[in-house]
Amino acid sequence: MPAFPKPIHLSHQFIREVIQPGDVVVDATLGNGHDALFLSKLVGAKGFVYGFDVQKEAVESATKKMGEAGCDVFQFFLAGHENMVNEVEPGVAVVMFNLGYLPKADKAVITTVETTIPALEQALHLLKKGGLISIMCYPGHAGGDVESEAVEAWSSELAREDNRVAKYALLNAPNNPPFLIMIEKLRD
Ligand code: SAH
Repeated sequence: MPAFPKPIHLSHQFIREVIQPGDVVVDATLGNGHDALFLSKLVGAKGFVYGFDVQKEAVESATKKMGEAGCDVFQFFLAGHENMVNEVEPGVAVVMFNLGYLPKADKAVITTVETTIPALEQALHLLKKGGLISIMCYPGHAGGDVESEAVEAWSSELAREDNRVAKYALLNAPNNPPFLIMIEKLRD
């Protein structure tokens, strides 16, 4: 691991510090299930992973990945993350968002500001004290620029007494590089 990791790997470092075995966590954008699997290993057999994605292929491949790893403490929904509050109880330790499109799939299916911001509001509501939201933003594709800006603006305005908010990016990477936003909830 280089001294300055990729943004997604930095999010993994922070998340490893926060999650305790038995925690309940959410992968808000399942994609190929990489993050859900990462989370499942940290929460263990007594924990639970909720997952959301609007693409059937994503939910299926993420489910397959969990099965192959022998993990059965999860529930994945073929539904938008803007429905999170209807399925998940408050008290969550981590919510991960990996925005944009699913690599190697339909690049027309992207996360959008209209649903991402409501989902972030719900995630913050569901989080327990000391919990984290990690958001990978991808400003490099059409639509991703508007969304990334909106996510950064929304995060920047969160009350300082209630949340700590950080941003990280590799600045000399090409083509509007992705960046990470992390939100820590300081009190219930
Ligand atoms: N976390 C994944 C990458 C996610 S890609 C990985 O590790 O590879 C972004 C995903 O968000 C896509 O699979 C896309 O289908 C999904 N998505 C788009 N709109 C969504 C919404 N409203 N709710 C949940 N997922 C959504």
